[in-house]
Amino acid sequence: MSVVFLLLFVGTMATVAGTLFGLANPIITTFLIGLVLFIAYQIYIQIFFSSEKFKNIKESIKEYTTNCNELNDHIEWLKCTHADIRSFDYGEGHLYDNSNFNFQRKEWSKNIKNHLVHNCSASVCKNASDQPFKYLCKYFDIKASEETLSSFEIVLNNFAAAEQGKVLLQNERDSILLDVSKSIPTLIFFFSKNKLIQKLGFEPIDLSDLYFPVFTFQYVSAGGNSSSKCDIKLNITNLDSFIKYLSEIVKFRKSVVGQRALMTSSLREKIKSRDNYTCQYCNLSTRDEQNLLLEIDHIIPLSKGGITSEDNLQTLCWKCNRTKGARIVLAS
Ligand SMILES: [Zn+2]
Repeated sequence: MSVVFLLLFVGTMATVAGTLFGLANPIITTFLIGLVLFIAYQIYIQIFFSSEKFKNIKESIKEYTTNCNELNDHIEWLKCTHADIRSFDYGEGHLYDNSNFNFQRKEWSKNIKNHLVHNCSASVCKNASDQPFKYLCKYFDIKASEETLSSFEIVLNNFAAAEQGKVLLQNERDSILLDVSKSIPTLIFFFSKNKLIQKLGFEPIDLSDLYFPVFTFQYVSAGGNSSSKCDIKLNITNLDSFIKYLSEIVKFRKSVVGQRALMTSSLREKIKSRDNYTCQYCNLSTRDEQNLLLEIDHIIPLSKGGITSEDNLQTLCWKCNRTKGARIVLAS
C-alpha cells in the first residue's frame, strides 16, 4: 500500500514541478524530480522500518543478531591482545629544535611519542628492510626469550581467530539476511542494505586490518629534506615467520610434559583437524553450525606453566573458550 502511495505522491509532485518549471528550465525540473524521488524514498523506508511487520521480522531473528553481536565483541577483544606485548616505560623526555636559520623540522616531532616508531639513520632504515625481524628485536627491545615467544604465539592465535571470525561472522549475517529477504521489499533490500542491517540490530563489523601492529623505522635528514621509512607490519604471515625466527634463537627449557611445539597457523589447523572440528567442551562442530568459530586453547594455560604442545592443546568454540577464560580469572 505504501508503494502505491509513494508512486501517486511522486507522480503528482513531478507533474506539478514539470508544469511550473518544465518549459522554462529543464535543469531545475530534473533536479526537483530527483529531490522529490529522494525524499519520497526516504519517507517510504522510514514508514517500512517503523511498521509492525518490520518489528516482527526483527523480533524473529533477535536470538541470531544477539549471537552475531556477541561474536563481533569477541573479535574486537581478540584484536586488542597485542596491547600488552610491550610494557616498557622509558620515561618522559623532551626534544627541542635549537638550530639556527629557522630550519623547518616538522618531521622530527611528528612521531616522537609513538613507541612503535624508531627514528634512526638512513643505513639502519635500509638494513631494517633487509632483515626486519633482526632489527625489530634490536631496536624495539623485543627479547628473544621463551616468554616473548609465548606472548607472540598468543597474539598470533588470537589474530588468526579474529581474521577467521570476521569471515564467518559476515557469512552468518549474510545467511540471516537471506532468510528474511523474502519479507523485505526488494527496493529496500538492494538500495538500503546497510540501513537494513543496522535497523535489524546488527552492530557494524570492522573488516579493516588496522589492528595489526606496525613497527616503523624512520630516517629524516638534519634539514628535513631527505627521508625514508621502513614499515614492518605484524600481520598473520609475518607473525608466523616471526615466531619461527624467535624460536630458532630461543633455546627451549627442558620440559617433562612433552615436546614444545610452535603455535603457528599450520599447528592450529592440525589441532582442529585432530579434534574433528568439534568443540571439546560442548561438542558443537562445524557440521552442526557452518559458521562456527573454533579456537585453539591451552588446556593448562601458559600463565599456569602450561606449554605449547599437541597434548596441551584443544579445540574449543569461541563461546566455551571465552567462558573458560572467565573461569580462570575468577579462580586465580
Ligand atoms: Zn563449545
